[in-house]
Amino acid sequence: MKYLIVAVILGAFFTIIYLRLRPYINMARRVLGVVRDARGMSAGQGMPGGVGGTAAARPKPAGDERLVRCDSCGTWLPASRALTLRATSSNFCSHDCMERSAGESGARRAAR
Ligand SMILES: [Zn+2]
Repeated sequence: MKYLIVAVILGAFFTIIYLRLRPYINMARRVLGVVRDARGMSAGQGMPGGVGGTAAARPKPAGDERLVRCDSCGTWLPASRALTLRATSSNFCSHDCMERSAGESGARRAAR
């Protein structure tokens, strides 16, 4: 019988606490719902990419440019700024390097 009274008191106690905290609980539920929605959206976006994952699908960042190495002086520079010789598919940072490399390769060819 005592337990019943205690239970009733505890129940009333928790009910009062619940009623007092209800606005906060609703707020928290709303926040959690937003988080859940965001997670669902991100999960939905990840699904069409495949099981492997979008991050693994593209090894190089799309925004960043590919870096190429100057064949003459060894400087790394973005591919868009590099001078590329189509014949040898070699990259150079400047015309000077291109000419220098061309001269070197010409000298090597002449030496052979
Ligand atoms: Zn160079």
